[in-house]
Amino acid sequence: MKISRIDHLGIAVQSIDEVLPYFENVLGLKCYAVEEVADQKVKTAFMKVGEVKLELLEPTCEDSPIAKFMANGGKGVHHVAFAVEDGVANAIAEVDSKGIRLIDKAPRRGAENMMIAFLHPKSTAGVLTELCEPAK
Ligand code: ZN
Repeated sequence: MKISRIDHLGIAVQSIDEVLPYFENVLGLKCYAVEEVADQKVKTAFMKVGEVKLELLEPTCEDSPIAKFMANGGKGVHHVAFAVEDGVANAIAEVDSKGIRLIDKAPRRGAENMMIAFLHPKSTAGVLTELCEPAK
């Protein structure tokens, strides 16, 4: 697997509207896209920090994975997303062969027209890990 960079950090929030003034008015970042990912039951907001993006994740219903994360006491950084150069499907097959627990057994479509797959934090030093690449 060839990881080229950190694509984004996912940050779990109760409300994008409530926290956006911090990111925009205090840190001086600019939200350039808000997108709902129905599949994941989240609303996302994206900001660029150099080459890395921040992805704010707001649950859209109570059984959203983000709602569950926060209900279990989680807050703040939710996942790290690495951009892979040789395909998410190839990367999943490789980590699977190395005994890493997968959340997604096949790539699926995420926000920003990316193909993504999550690895289980039990296998990744406690850090929920996303592998991603632009969809073709
Ligand atoms: Zn993400």
